[in-house]
Amino acid sequence: MPMVETLSPPSLTRQKTMVEAQGISKQFGNLEVLTTIDFRLASSEVVCVIGPSGSGKSTLLRCLAFLEPYDHGSVYIDGQLLGYEDRGGKRVRTSEKRVDQVRASVGMVFQHFNLWPHRTALENVTEALRLVNGLSRREADVEGMAMLEQVGLADRAGHFPESLSGGQKQRVAIARALAMKPRVMFFDEPTSALDPELVGEVLDVMKKLAADGMTMVIVTHEMGFAAKVADRVIFMDQGRVVESGPPTTLFRQPKSERLQQFLNTWR
Ligand code: ADP
Ligand code: MG
Repeated sequence: MPMVETLSPPSLTRQKTMVEAQGISKQFGNLEVLTTIDFRLASSEVVCVIGPSGSGKSTLLRCLAFLEPYDHGSVYIDGQLLGYEDRGGKRVRTSEKRVDQVRASVGMVFQHFNLWPHRTALENVTEALRLVNGLSRREADVEGMAMLEQVGLADRAGHFPESLSGGQKQRVAIARALAMKPRVMFFDEPTSALDPELVGEVLDVMKKLAADGMTMVIVTHEMGFAAKVADRVIFMDQGRVVESGPPTTLFRQPKSERLQQFLNTWR
């Protein structure tokens, strides 16, 4: 295990790429879940990550957001180190405070929305605006309503989660993430828990975000969506990036047998 030290800010600033992962690896016990992943995401780029269950997609997103410590390599968000870096043979780590600061520019949306059940849609969106960003209730409400409007739910502001459909709940979760003004959004199978008839409304919100220039990494099994919205698709298997490229190339001319097999199971 390399030596780990706390790195004090200001951390290194690197080139203006929104997300960059350099050779990240991750093991859970003896299981190697990610093997030297190199990944670069430009500003306003939309990347969809596809791959079989257990291939490491969620772990990759979690490592990129440093919700999970990685064992090797480095991650930079908008040029800021998030996690570890090797310096002169030593492995240095960003301080907790710095982790919070850098992570604040990452918005995350998961399969399960985790809304507060006893708070309205609007309160779910404004909670962090008030508690983390220190906005007054009035300021937070104005901002929160704008976010709900963006996901088409302004008319549901006063509703509690139990009276919202799954699709509406996920849109509230997206509004909540957007309220923090992230520079990049990570989605981990945002529609996998939804009834089929509710998937479209959530994908439509994401399409709109993409059209508005949001930088996004989206783990999804929605191949039609990926084909339409992604600038680039990444196919993962067994903790590695097996293929990556524009969706037309990847979907129409898969090179590897593994991707061909994978696509066949989703057709
Ligand atoms: P995917 O999202 O592609 O389905 P995951 O990233 O969730 O894959 O998981 C990749 C592998 O890592 C799987 O074999 C999974 O069982 C394992 N794994 C994920 N999280 C943990 C954990 N916290 N502890 C141990 N093993 C884990
Ligand atoms: Mg997953």
